[in-house]
Amino acid sequence: EGYLGYFETKCAGSKKMIGEAKQYIPGGVQHNLAFNYPFPLAMAKAEGPYLYDVDGNRYVDYLQAGGPTLLGSNYLPVQEKVIEVIKECSPCPGLFNEYEMKLAKIIHDNMPHVEKYRSLASGTEADMTAIRIARTFTGKSKIIKVGGAYHGWSDQLVYSLHIPGTQRFEAHGIPKEVSANTQEMWPNDIDGLRKLLEGNQKDGGTAAVIVEPLGPESGTRPVARDFNAKVRELCDEFGALLIFDEVVTAFRVGPGGAQGYFDIKPDLTVFGKIVSGGYPMAGGVGGSEEVMSCVAAGVNPGKPKAYVGGTLSANPMSCAAGYYAIDEIVKLDAAKIAGENGDKLCKGLQTLIDKYDLPFVAWNTGSIVHFEVTGAMYLDAADPDILKKIGQRQHALEEFGAALTANGVITLAGSRIYTSMADNDETIKETLDAFDRVFQNMEK
Ligand code: PLP
Repeated sequence: EGYLGYFETKCAGSKKMIGEAKQYIPGGVQHNLAFNYPFPLAMAKAEGPYLYDVDGNRYVDYLQAGGPTLLGSNYLPVQEKVIEVIKECSPCPGLFNEYEMKLAKIIHDNMPHVEKYRSLASGTEADMTAIRIARTFTGKSKIIKVGGAYHGWSDQLVYSLHIPGTQRFEAHGIPKEVSANTQEMWPNDIDGLRKLLEGNQKDGGTAAVIVEPLGPESGTRPVARDFNAKVRELCDEFGALLIFDEVVTAFRVGPGGAQGYFDIKPDLTVFGKIVSGGYPMAGGVGGSEEVMSCVAAGVNPGKPKAYVGGTLSANPMSCAAGYYAIDEIVKLDAAKIAGENGDKLCKGLQTLIDKYDLPFVAWNTGSIVHFEVTGAMYLDAADPDILKKIGQRQHALEEFGAALTANGVITLAGSRIYTSMADNDETIKETLDAFDRVFQNMEK
């Protein structure tokens, strides 16, 4: 508990600001990545691998805003281009612009299974749009997702009601008629998926199976190496589309995303985060010409169309930011560099875990590093105490995350690290030293 003193003595400015914010914002913060324990920190500056709070404290930034800043924060070559574009065309002239085309082309050129691409304004919208396209294309209604996977917060995908024990369990305000069309399978449960697909045959069929290709929450619950291939086979057998949610993995696990990494062809790919280079309005859907023709008026006349809109979708600021960021990522091999940083960090973490003989585990796919410090990596849906255990896990993660923060390192939910191209031996050492101090003070 010693680290709580840090927040009291060093973070007075944040504490004051959150106190004021509570008068105007429910709970004081509206960003769902903000950690609330013991109170949220207010950030004032971001630069390269670091974040600085309003009290001037510096942190190694492994939250990376949830994943978009693969090049590091405020990466100047992209920032300069974005400012030029804003000055020239304004952030939002509202009509077709060259950057909309350039972004679609660079995504098409790098992602193996994106022939056509449509820009949207967030990952949530993109997931929502992908299932709408799948339903339009197949004429079927049911969607199957993996329990615990995050596909944004739309009515149809946010919840995990069928399988308790998954993170969005508390999502209320969704009519039963809406959630009735979304089903969940347990990670890696291929037999369970077959049963759902078979059951749906009598009930209009399955439009799509949507997965995070590394497993729920970017691989927090890892899937078996052949999981995606087996899902692909079942989708083909039952005439369902396979949707890869690559909001995190696209351009992060490599220029070809997870579809390149696993060599699997999804029918639709969902994008977010890196596709606007860390700037606002990151989202899009891509796929084959045939499937994507469902969103274009005048293409394939007579075929059903899905309505897709968005006042700010495809604005030149977001598209230019995404285009220039991806261009740099590809040219500089940023995913590889960030991935090597992730490898180093993960190896160092495992060495520390062994040093203190702690029952923890660290694993990574390149720049996506996970560490589990609660002993509850796989929760069993059938466990009668599951809700209690989720609560305990949540609390343990909050405490662990806060202890790391007090030691100068900000992570995602106390259990995930996104490394970037901006990390270096110094930031990795700072991080491992912080973990060392936290582990030292932990009770076994
Ligand atoms: N899909 C995945 C895999 C995500 O990690 C996220 C966000 O973290 C989303 C979708 C939703 O994206 P957004 O927050 O841009 O709506």
